[in-house]
Amino acid sequence: MSLDKISEYQKAFDERHFKNWNESADKLEFLQSMVVALVGEIGEFANVVKKAVREKKTLGNEVSGEVLGKLREELTDCFIYIVILANRLGMDLEKEYYRKMKVNEKRFEKYRVG
Ligand SMILES: [Mg+2]
Repeated sequence: MSLDKISEYQKAFDERHFKNWNESADKLEFLQSMVVALVGEIGEFANVVKKAVREKKTLGNEVSGEVLGKLREELTDCFIYIVILANRLGMDLEKEYYRKMKVNEKRFEKYRVG
């Protein structure tokens, strides 16, 4: 699925589930709510890592399947909030990703190993 399709799918989901709240919410209040939710999901991701390290849930240098599943779920939650924020900002996330990566290619040129 392309980012365009993901963006449209998320918009449709949000309209079905949060339409009234979205319309009544101030744009900055909406952004505030969503960024707090995003940071919360990042915290959930970090907590999985923290517990995995503390409980040594690793297989050699690899992350165990249980932990990997939780990490993927939390990272997906983060992505959902990023898509919601991008939609609210009217961003083409794919286009902006490639634009920013061009900047990063120059910025990180000195660290290039291959
Ligand atoms: Mg979560």
